[in-house]
Amino acid sequence: MMRRAVLVCAVAAAMSGGLGMAQAPVQTPTRAPDYPTQPVPLGSVTFSDLFWAPRLETVRSVTIAATFKQSELTGRIKNFEIAGGAATGEFCSRYAFDDSDVYKIIEGAAYALEVRPDKALDGYLDTLIAKIAKAQEPDGYLYTARTINPSKAMPMAGKERWTNLKDSHELYNLGHLYEAAAAHYRATGKKTLLAVATKSADLVARTFGPEGLRYPPGHQEIEIGLVKLYRVTRDQRYLALAKFFLDERGNPAGHTLYGDYAQDHKPVVDQDEAVGHSVRAAYMYSAMADVSALTGDARYVAALDRLWDDVVLRKLYLTGGIGATGAWEGFGPAYDLPNSAYAETCASIANALWNFRMFLLRQDARYMDVYERAVYNAMLSGISLKGDTFFYPNPLLSLGQHERSPWFACACCPSNLPRFMLSIPSHAYAVAGDRVFVNLFVQGEARVALPGGEVHLEQQTRYPWDGDVRLRVSPAKAGRFTLAVRVPGWSMDHPVPGNLYRALAAEREPVTLRVNGLLVPIRLERGFAVITREWTAGDSIDLHLPMPVRRVVAHDAVKADEGRVAVERGPLVYTAEFVDNGGRVTNLVLDDEAPLSSGWRPDLLNGVMTVTGKATALRMRNGSPAAEAGALTLIPYYGWAHRGTGEMAVWLARRADRARPAPEPTLASSSRASSSEGGKSLQGLNEQYEPADSNDHTAMYFHWWPKKGSTEWVQYDFPAPATVSESSVYWFDDTGQGGCRIPRNWRILYKRGEQWVPVETRDTYGLAKDAYNTVRFSPVNTTALRLEVGLPEAFSSGIQEWKVR
Ligand SMILES: [Zn+2]
Repeated sequence: MMRRAVLVCAVAAAMSGGLGMAQAPVQTPTRAPDYPTQPVPLGSVTFSDLFWAPRLETVRSVTIAATFKQSELTGRIKNFEIAGGAATGEFCSRYAFDDSDVYKIIEGAAYALEVRPDKALDGYLDTLIAKIAKAQEPDGYLYTARTINPSKAMPMAGKERWTNLKDSHELYNLGHLYEAAAAHYRATGKKTLLAVATKSADLVARTFGPEGLRYPPGHQEIEIGLVKLYRVTRDQRYLALAKFFLDERGNPAGHTLYGDYAQDHKPVVDQDEAVGHSVRAAYMYSAMADVSALTGDARYVAALDRLWDDVVLRKLYLTGGIGATGAWEGFGPAYDLPNSAYAETCASIANALWNFRMFLLRQDARYMDVYERAVYNAMLSGISLKGDTFFYPNPLLSLGQHERSPWFACACCPSNLPRFMLSIPSHAYAVAGDRVFVNLFVQGEARVALPGGEVHLEQQTRYPWDGDVRLRVSPAKAGRFTLAVRVPGWSMDHPVPGNLYRALAAEREPVTLRVNGLLVPIRLERGFAVITREWTAGDSIDLHLPMPVRRVVAHDAVKADEGRVAVERGPLVYTAEFVDNGGRVTNLVLDDEAPLSSGWRPDLLNGVMTVTGKATALRMRNGSPAAEAGALTLIPYYGWAHRGTGEMAVWLARRADRARPAPEPTLASSSRASSSEGGKSLQGLNEQYEPADSNDHTAMYFHWWPKKGSTEWVQYDFPAPATVSESSVYWFDDTGQGGCRIPRNWRILYKRGEQWVPVETRDTYGLAKDAYNTVRFSPVNTTALRLEVGLPEAFSSGIQEWKVR
């Protein structure tokens, strides 16, 4: 068994070759096949810093309760009660995958309990788990969307069990159940939820397999859950089933393929391009890493190397987010990284989970670099400082249309955050043989079990605000072992592995390392500074990571970032927000030579280091742009959208032609906009952002979705009576992505007294896409103008911009 695992890693290393780096085989594992590196578990790590510790406390004290409460309010918990006979009624939430949110919050609550007992939470879980157990059918089937009323299951669920796995999420839900059950058992020692999980998994094992049903799930997740169940029970069937589900993907012998949206276009071991839904993808990649480690099948790792290269070299946002498009919640083509970015919170979590597993496989710091980038930036943007509102997409550019919300109809992101965030301490340290890896810099303590005895590690640092890290190393008894301390890529001017982003040249103070106060040369192995010596209690290491403000630019092929620059400091990506910069940021130009400095602001966003400097603001004056020198203030990206809605941009113009001069006020922009019932995003009508085309999602747009076929209107109330004679409208049409199309017809009316009267015109009311449709009419003096729109029979409509003159 042991030899096999060693061989696997060596083969995988030989086959990797990603980013042109040779991969040496990792250390010999000491047990049955598994990752050669083992995380130091949650219960052995304590954070006591000023960055993560308060955030995790907020998750424990606010987010878990808030998301359970939302699950109650939205019927998610009642569904279990009805299915179990404790209540009556029909399935009362929206989606067949709503069960999974409850499981995910339970998993997060279990991590909270693992770190600190909480009687009330423990009791709440007991009650909830009893409801879940009752909702399980006698043979182990658990899916409230069907059990409640099998004859009235929603279309997504399929007519019978397991007949619509492409969409039903039957197996997806179970994956989250299994993860929750394993966590709850580890935290409390109680087998209540574990019994539900194994009963369910036994049914799945009886139903699916080479001799049974050969459908993979449409949404991957059960594979990760089965691996966790295997780790707790050591029941080989669960591991075999996880591998089976992976291997059935892309196998047309077993089922009609679901296509690349669900990564079911070819066998997983043959995949080399990250495609489709990004959460499904990264959960699958995580499972491939797990199954590879546990079974010794190296083909998965070879595929993972290709997929990782594709993501990190071509499809990764600077914030660590993945998934460029909302159309399929997933990856776009190579280098297609619009700053309207979907970058779903769940996708950042999935990206971090995958990269942590890649680190466990390879002991290479570049995976933790990607992990850190995703966690400190894209993931953390997904949750407010107060812990009770959330983002689903996490764009790198906002014109003011984005605001965190307490919940979503599809609530995958809010329910994913507690379980991920509370597991971060278990990613901070890891062990392989007599080598201890220090992955993350967070003040606190860890107890690490090494072959020669326990080692107590204490970290003192103000990271991410400061790059000085002191590690006190106290082995229970003196002995020789190795500490491997991550030297982040950013500290060596490599914001990411590869060349998707690069730091602009700057004078750089070197990274230094001291052992017991004495400067030592840094011996880097796969991105870790490796120190092997005889350690005795009280020894110390001082790592100095200089944290200047760094400018970063994107690969030339990333058209969205051409002529633009982003600012980073340490692991944090910075952003410009309207509130700190005179109301706008898209009109700013940050010159390459303009000095930038950082300063601590204890009063801002619970305490942040801001970056300040000078920028040029462009404003239209009498029809042409005028430049004004002004101050620039940047905040860490994760802190945006806490002080009202307005412009935000991570990528600032480096050149004047990439900035958007602040427009002069117009009659439209000075008017009060309103609409018929159901209209959304009124500010999209007159925010004066010129759309690139009708399907431009960067510009704000107004729409009536999901209304169809009806007659609707939008209206401008002028600040004072005005004479108008022209109207120009630019339709929003998201063919290929959504349900808005050019309307059937439209006309302009003006207010005469209390009456709405059509204007007199000989122009046609145009229905052109990707252009303004202008109508000139006999001048009218009025206080308000209305644009009346006939929606198509089967579609809704929307407006990019409406101008009047
Ligand atoms: Zn999500």
